[in-house]
Amino acid sequence: MAARAASARERKILPGEQNEYAVSIRGLNKWYGAFQVLRDINLDVATGEKIILCGPSGSGKSTLIRCINRLEIFQAGSLTVDGIKLTDDLKRIDDVRREVGMVFQHFNLFPHLTILENCTLAPIHVRKLPKEQAVETAMHFLKRVRIPEQADKYPGQLSGGQQQRVAIARALCMNPKIMLFDEPTSALDPEMVQEVLETMVELAREGMTMLCVTHEMGFARQVADRVVFMDRGEILEIAAPQAFFAAPQHPRTQLFLGQIL
Ligand code: ADP
Ligand code: MG
Repeated sequence: MAARAASARERKILPGEQNEYAVSIRGLNKWYGAFQVLRDINLDVATGEKIILCGPSGSGKSTLIRCINRLEIFQAGSLTVDGIKLTDDLKRIDDVRREVGMVFQHFNLFPHLTILENCTLAPIHVRKLPKEQAVETAMHFLKRVRIPEQADKYPGQLSGGQQQRVAIARALCMNPKIMLFDEPTSALDPEMVQEVLETMVELAREGMTMLCVTHEMGFARQVADRVVFMDRGEILEIAAPQAFFAAPQHPRTQLFLGQIL
């Protein structure tokens, strides 16, 4: 909590920035060269809200969530994260990244560092936590994802499901306000999917604001406040999970659900 209070103090709220949403995306457009990958995206995510983002491969889901922590730039529109407007100002980009945890499909752990070192690296070097405190925090979150006994191993010695739980713990060690997940279970063997989803369900129940790209529709039904369907760079439908699954409105949503359910 102390680290979070400090980070709020460090950054100024500039004129025109608002704090009412965890993430506010307005009129977002992005091109890769001549190819338009995101078309007029509008989405507000309330604090504590869980959004599931789904849609066919290539529809722009990864690009959209990568824009939120500025792993991708965009050419038009605005994006505000926890009251911080994303501009080209590098200081602001750092401020945003401090608030946002990200979990990728392929874990992206540092292979030459132990599990514990993976979890303490950024807290020590970015958050400037003393080492003992970073270790204590890391062990706390490794216990929460139920693998404290793996702390001194290297990523290559763990199963895929265990590595993904480390990736979640590592993100949580930075005390993020928002967690982004990009298909966190799609690279896992089927028997490991559940253990990762259980960790994510617990995180959702604790009130974390989550934006998650996934095709795990059981998980979506369980935790989502809203499901967002994207196709060809556009948001075509946003609905509560019950309505989304029982009565999808857009023909392309119906087609998509018909293929995956
Ligand atoms: P999704 O995550 O929904 O599968 P992506 O956001 O990864 O979709 O990609 C959306 C589209 O943008 C795809 O057509 C993809 O080929 C294209 N794309 C993604 N990254 C790049 C890039 N760096 N340069 C050019 N095109 C890209
Ligand atoms: Mg993707």
